[in-house]
Amino acid sequence: MNNLTKARRIAAAAMALMTACAAGITSAQAAPQGDPAPQGEPARYGPGAPGSGDPYFPSAGNGGYDVLHYDLDLRYSPPSDPAVPAGKLTAEATITLRATQNLDALNFDLRGLAVTAVDVDGKDVNHGAGPSDWTQVQDDASRTWELTVGLRPKLKAGQKAAITIDYGGTTGRPEDTTGALYGWVTTADGAMVVSEPDGAPTWYPVNDDPEDKATYSFHITVPEGKTAVANGLPGGKPETKAGWTTWTWEARDPMASYLATASIGDFTLSYGKGPHGLPIINAVDRGVTGPALEKTNAALALQPQMIAFLSDLFGPYPFEAFGAIVDDDSVDYALETQTRPVYSEVADEDTVVHELGHQWFGNSVSPADWKDIWLNEGWATYIQWLWAEHQGKSTVAKQFTDTVADLDSKNLWGLNIADPGRDNLFAEQVYHRGAAALHALRAKIGDQAFFAGAKEWLDRYSNSSATTEDFENVMEEASGRQLDAFFNDWLREGDRPAMP
Ligand SMILES: [Zn+2]
Repeated sequence: MNNLTKARRIAAAAMALMTACAAGITSAQAAPQGDPAPQGEPARYGPGAPGSGDPYFPSAGNGGYDVLHYDLDLRYSPPSDPAVPAGKLTAEATITLRATQNLDALNFDLRGLAVTAVDVDGKDVNHGAGPSDWTQVQDDASRTWELTVGLRPKLKAGQKAAITIDYGGTTGRPEDTTGALYGWVTTADGAMVVSEPDGAPTWYPVNDDPEDKATYSFHITVPEGKTAVANGLPGGKPETKAGWTTWTWEARDPMASYLATASIGDFTLSYGKGPHGLPIINAVDRGVTGPALEKTNAALALQPQMIAFLSDLFGPYPFEAFGAIVDDDSVDYALETQTRPVYSEVADEDTVVHELGHQWFGNSVSPADWKDIWLNEGWATYIQWLWAEHQGKSTVAKQFTDTVADLDSKNLWGLNIADPGRDNLFAEQVYHRGAAALHALRAKIGDQAFFAGAKEWLDRYSNSSATTEDFENVMEEASGRQLDAFFNDWLREGDRPAMP
């Protein structure tokens, strides 16, 4: 995400962690059922946990299974009155998953949309209160949005299942815990879909945990004339029938749920190539005109050079495609949606290289918990510095000095960026202190160890997730030095660190 040009609204309310699940949702443990296990031992079956254990978003994500693939069939009518942000979504999701424990029920996250039918491996599940039925809890006050699906037959650890969920409703403009727009944001001409951190459930039933990556297929049906753009590559030509066009996209690289998009609008698509023939597909809203369009075109024209530059520093570009979605509507920030970042109103050079940098730092290697967000934003900001130096516009040393002076003048050393708090995920310090910490690390251990460590980090945790402690360990190995005190000073301590 990039919020450097426009301040993101931060809720005035003090951070309060949710500590309990809503009534009606049971915890992970259940009584033994006595089902025979293969070895003849009694197997215990129970429901998967209704949360993935993230301290900032305890109800996000679920336990007991690993999603392999989401197949999302979305039919969407944009607002009939452009002044009223209400669209209509009718959808079917087929989720292929593997149980990681013996399950008699499991949960998905789904917010603000009503489920009408569920089947498991082609067999209907009834809607009701019984243990083998499906139920839906929608509780905005506790930010709990859970769909529970009973499993009969029960699912043994290691077994796969395909769960099909029909759902839909009226879409609006959802907000995150700080009051910022996110998720399926209804716009005058379609929808702008940016889900960091926990907005994915506003448009599909999901295990909303960045640690559970999966591949995706999107079939998005919109009124003829509208364009729908998602992650990855087109899965064939759009097909039009009776005034509706279906756009198919296939995202074959594992992806965290917050990085999925299916943006809809009056877009013009253009197709290009990056290094080694990498497909680059840009979607620019026809409402982006004048200086904004000139700036956007100039920045997007640099994408191949930026990819080449970052590949030299950090290793091959990690995914099957790249590109941009530039919407004339605004959520006041850009997001690094995988393979195809979304930009509000304009894509400028700084923001494009920032979102490209996230494809390595954040998308290929994702935060294990949301408190690890500085690993995304510190790196993407540092990549802006590296690119500006490469382009001869500034030096990394000067940007470091200026950033430290700015943090000094605003007295911003108080925040522990390795655990900034739920509503400070996108605070200025996460970006700027994060980037400064990386530059200080480079000064301390030298270019050779710093870039070798970065490549090792990307290699070891590619298509996966990792923690700040994992990053510290990789950098200690790369440098052969003990760095606990350094990282504490630069990430966690509440006062100005010693300068390199
Ligand atoms: Zn970012």
